Amino acid sequence: MKVEVSDAQIQTVAEQVQVHKFGGSSLADAYSYRRVARIVTEYAGASDLVVVSAAGDTTNRILAILDAKKSGDADGDYGVAEVLLKQLERYQQGLIKELLSGTHQQQLLTTSMVDFERWWDWLAGAEEIDNRAELLSYGELWSARLLAALLKQQGTLADAIDARSFLVADDAPEPFIRVAESRSGLLNRIAAHAGTRFVVTGFICADASGRSLILGRNGSDYSATLIGSLIDSKQVTIWKDVAGVYSADPRKVERVVNLPILDWREAEELARLGSPVLHPRTFQPVNRERMVIAVRSSLKVENQQTRIGLYEDAEPAGKVLTALSEVVLFRVDLRDAKLIQAFEDLELTPLISWNELQQQHAYYAYHQNHLDYMERWLASVDSKQSACKLTGYAMLALVGNRIQETDEYTLFKQQTSEQALRRLALTPDNSAVVAVLEQKLDDRLLNRIHSQLFNHRRSLGVLVVGRGNIGSAWLSLFHRLRERINEQMDVRIIGVLNSTQMWLDYNGLDIADWQDSFARLARPYEMSQLIPELPNAPYDELVMLDLTDATPVAQLYPSFFANGLHIISANKRAGASHESQYNEIRTIQQEYQREWYYNTTVGAGLPLNYALSDLRNSGDRIQSISGIFSGTMSWLFENFNADVKFSDLVREAKAQGLSEPDPREDLSCQDIIRKLLILAREIGLQLDWKDIDVDSLLPDYLADIPLDEFMQRLPELDNAMQDLYLDAQKNGQVPRLLASFAVQDNEKVRARVGIEYIPAGDMLANLIPGENIFVIYTDWYHEMPLVISGPGAGKEVTAGGIQSDLNQLLSRLADHR
Ligand code: ASP
Ligand code: MG
Repeated sequence: MKVEVSDAQIQTVAEQVQVHKFGGSSLADAYSYRRVARIVTEYAGASDLVVVSAAGDTTNRILAILDAKKSGDADGDYGVAEVLLKQLERYQQGLIKELLSGTHQQQLLTTSMVDFERWWDWLAGAEEIDNRAELLSYGELWSARLLAALLKQQGTLADAIDARSFLVADDAPEPFIRVAESRSGLLNRIAAHAGTRFVVTGFICADASGRSLILGRNGSDYSATLIGSLIDSKQVTIWKDVAGVYSADPRKVERVVNLPILDWREAEELARLGSPVLHPRTFQPVNRERMVIAVRSSLKVENQQTRIGLYEDAEPAGKVLTALSEVVLFRVDLRDAKLIQAFEDLELTPLISWNELQQQHAYYAYHQNHLDYMERWLASVDSKQSACKLTGYAMLALVGNRIQETDEYTLFKQQTSEQALRRLALTPDNSAVVAVLEQKLDDRLLNRIHSQLFNHRRSLGVLVVGRGNIGSAWLSLFHRLRERINEQMDVRIIGVLNSTQMWLDYNGLDIADWQDSFARLARPYEMSQLIPELPNAPYDELVMLDLTDATPVAQLYPSFFANGLHIISANKRAGASHESQYNEIRTIQQEYQREWYYNTTVGAGLPLNYALSDLRNSGDRIQSISGIFSGTMSWLFENFNADVKFSDLVREAKAQGLSEPDPREDLSCQDIIRKLLILAREIGLQLDWKDIDVDSLLPDYLADIPLDEFMQRLPELDNAMQDLYLDAQKNGQVPRLLASFAVQDNEKVRARVGIEYIPAGDMLANLIPGENIFVIYTDWYHEMPLVISGPGAGKEVTAGGIQSDLNQLLSRLADHR
């Protein structure tokens, strides 16, 4: 019965009815049917159309049965086909039984049994069905019926529509839709039923005589936009098991970003270049001025959706990285004008094509899936001998309108040029750049390029102050580890400075040959002028590595913090500064919420910092720390005995670079006091220089003379040292320079640095010259101390310790995103 639909009704349908589409993987089992039913009731309007694919892999199963039947026809054995059909029947009827009950179940089971009866007859040869499309149509038919029944059972007004009842087309490789006829057929069916959700079969249509036709594999997206345009709907929502369209295929690439909007051209280009997101024909019927396609997740409805529409004017940006792991090239002799013309006229447009005039060749690149088609086509063309098929290629493409204007385009070019790039070209409308690679494409490469393009990773600029032993060792360590370090954040060295010269570049320094570059590029500078400039460096975070031993640098810490830099120090001067200055540094650091790490200032690379903070974080309390904190002192005393002159040892230590340039720094115990202060403060104690009881080895009268003179007068120390040694020896002891602090009962701290006599067999008396030792007593380690010992100096271990601090900073910053 045909009722005329009024213009007003048409108008209402156009305004009110939207289309939703669910694919097979969103309808794979009973659980997902229920989820889809819930989405349809909650997120679809009361009169919306729901287009469905066949459940799960039903279409593939049908195709497999068709194949098995065919081989049965050849060899008379239908065993495989029977098994497959049995499985399909069980799968389909299982869904019905799980989802429906009572009369709903009975009705649908009866229909299903009638259908399968027909299939079994067909398989047995009792019924002739020569039309594949008709058999394939069952998949979508069953699915639409099932979802409609489920909705009805849940009390929602719903009904199934077989698209073959209204969608009329003429048979062709891609059926040609008769729009007017189809439109009135659909409107006739739905216009009078506002308030009913119709579930329509995707994928299928029929010719004028009612014979089934299919719209091509994965054709349901196309069905949805087609049906949407027939009713002039404003929106078609494609529900997928991923949320919207991402910057790359989320099954292959980590940390993809969701795209809120995509212009028609971008979406179309994406589909054309083989991205699995949407079928290329989806866009064909769309009235671009009116319709929007929303791509949304059926698994996580709350996730951001992608809206595809008229967004041409949006800022150009590289949006999606898409890849094909297998691409075929056809090389055609340019002199064969006829064949060239045939390629140019071919309806299947190549991914890209180009000419190489030198060799008189044209190249056309196609998706591997189109190889069959291309070979058949080529076989039908006369002059095929001048075309040659080349395999072993892959494609990477970056899609986005006006791609050439984007930063991502530049990055893409750079990244692909590092591969076996065969050809890079823009597509004619400038909405994609395509790279044909003469190599395999793996996900790692895809991931790497993707993160270069899209992971707007946080960045850290590093300013290295001090380019002495430790600076050099750390720079080469950083250079070696840079790939690993860069996994967490984009970490770049923006400056290398010594006290007078700086080599600065906010883009990041290439430190491969940094000594050379420094010599060429470093310029004089003023630290106090540089610091206020640093916040202009285009990084999310900045850190200053103080690898000096300079008091003036330490004095600027408040200024570094206040200008937004974190600090990692190998320099002890700030941590051991006088209480008032130390408190100021800490106050400013807290106010600006900056990080300060200084693990190498005590014990160089030894994991003292980890041990102490771990104990404290776990509830232990440090009672005392004592030991030999100075490598220089350790070396001097481990080599000292009654037969050796102390002054000779000091000279040798200086010559070997084991002491400070001025050995009085060591002999006066300044260096040890600094470490003691830093350690004590680290565990929260208040301690200042004046609180430490110091027994210096340096007589006052030698303290202020010039270094040369001091070195000459060194033997003046020998007698006293000799006496010390012999004195200790009387009781089987040896002298050692120890540092210690202990928390007393009344929370007061007793701290001391000086010579102590140790039994000759004690571990403190038997270190390797240069070795540091820290003996830690805590509430838990009170009978037996925790002992950490090892080299307390050396550029390698110290550079490693600096890196350890940097790693800590990076994970800290990552936590604070
Ligand atoms: N069921 C059909 C296929 O698997 C159509 C679709 O899923 O879009 O190709
Ligand atoms: Mg350490």
